[in-house]
Amino acid sequence: MDLQSLSTEQLVALQHRLRGRYEEFKARGINLNMARGKPGEDQLTLAQELLGLPGVDDATSESGDDVRNYFGEAQGLRETRRIFAGLMGAPIEQIVLGDNSSLALMHDVMAYAMLFGLPSSQRPWSKEDAVTFLCPAPGYDRHFGLCEGFGIKMIPIPMTGAGPDMDMVERLAGNDPTVRGIWCVPRFSNPTGDVYSEETVKRLAGMQTAAPDFTLFWDNAYGVHTLTETPPELANIVAATAEAGNPDRVFVFGSTSKITLAGAGIAMVATSPTNVTWLLKHMGRRSIGPDKINQLRHARFLKDEAGLKAHMAKHRAILAPKFARVHEMFAELLSGTGAATWTKPEGGYFISLDVMEGCAKRVVALAKEAGITVVPAGQTFPYSQDPRDTNIRIAPSYPSETEVEQAAEGIAICSLLAASEKILATRS
Ligand code: PMP
Repeated sequence: MDLQSLSTEQLVALQHRLRGRYEEFKARGINLNMARGKPGEDQLTLAQELLGLPGVDDATSESGDDVRNYFGEAQGLRETRRIFAGLMGAPIEQIVLGDNSSLALMHDVMAYAMLFGLPSSQRPWSKEDAVTFLCPAPGYDRHFGLCEGFGIKMIPIPMTGAGPDMDMVERLAGNDPTVRGIWCVPRFSNPTGDVYSEETVKRLAGMQTAAPDFTLFWDNAYGVHTLTETPPELANIVAATAEAGNPDRVFVFGSTSKITLAGAGIAMVATSPTNVTWLLKHMGRRSIGPDKINQLRHARFLKDEAGLKAHMAKHRAILAPKFARVHEMFAELLSGTGAATWTKPEGGYFISLDVMEGCAKRVVALAKEAGITVVPAGQTFPYSQDPRDTNIRIAPSYPSETEVEQAAEGIAICSLLAASEKILATRS
């Protein structure tokens, strides 16, 4: 039943019952963390074989390089790059492998742009009067943290279900020369699960921008992380920018953090030939090269693109039921109440829960008291400010299926309780 339609008396009675249920839940003494999109232990075990690879007798790459030594292919082993050409949407010549974190690559590209400027920059970003980034929100808190760290101003852009509000993006990027980039998680966005439509991709690739070096930070972190049999595809941004005559506009980022091992995967970037040369120049000053043994280990383990797909199907078998438990619990407890709406992503790591306006902080605090940790309310927005105090990111991957179900029940009870408090407060 819709809480708003209840009489005040009915609502007081309901709140009393919810409080009882909340206290009962609290008494279970659970302690669950749903804050970060961490793979579960069983997912990591899928890649256990990696710990024994490439093995004591195997240290030579396809190119004949001794992976134990310095140098070799600066862009990364070609047999490893080949596996990810589909995910990155680029030929291997346009792919550069990094160390274990794609966030580190994003940081470095941003730092090089600040210090030296991109190939299409007139001057380093740090020499500009102001640098602004468009931030589709809710989004990934660590993207926002990077901007904050570099003193880059952020403008939140609402998500539409097919990516960011493109009218707003075109207006801001087209008219404001301080707007130098946009954060995009284009497939199974963190946390909303949006897959950017072909139209969104084309508009981002081809739009007029006031800044000549406007850059798409295209974080395809969940590019192969599907939860259903026939998930929506993502149009190829490297091809789209090249076709639109803006080949240097995009850096595509990815990693195997949620494919193999979150702490010891391989990060990668795909971009135009001009940007590849620029990036390798700066990366080459920073490091003689990333861990090539890890690259060989991954090539031996995943083998090829078909191997990557088969491996992702194993993740799906573990993850999909956890997402299903959350959806079932939310549907049972929250449907039709007006206390919350939530996303049903076809991939990625998150469910985005929008509780009643003005209630997110309260729900997170209630959940914490009941032993469930979620990311602090607001953190899915630039400057940690959710203007409507409504969004909560749920990460169902780490706890077990039973625990996930319990946590979803707890969060739903907290959402209902907070909504009843809110409505009663507005009526008094
Ligand atoms: N991008 C997004 C959208 C993420 O959700 C995450 C991790 N949860 C990352 C990047 C970080 O990836 P990595 O481990 O490769 O640094």
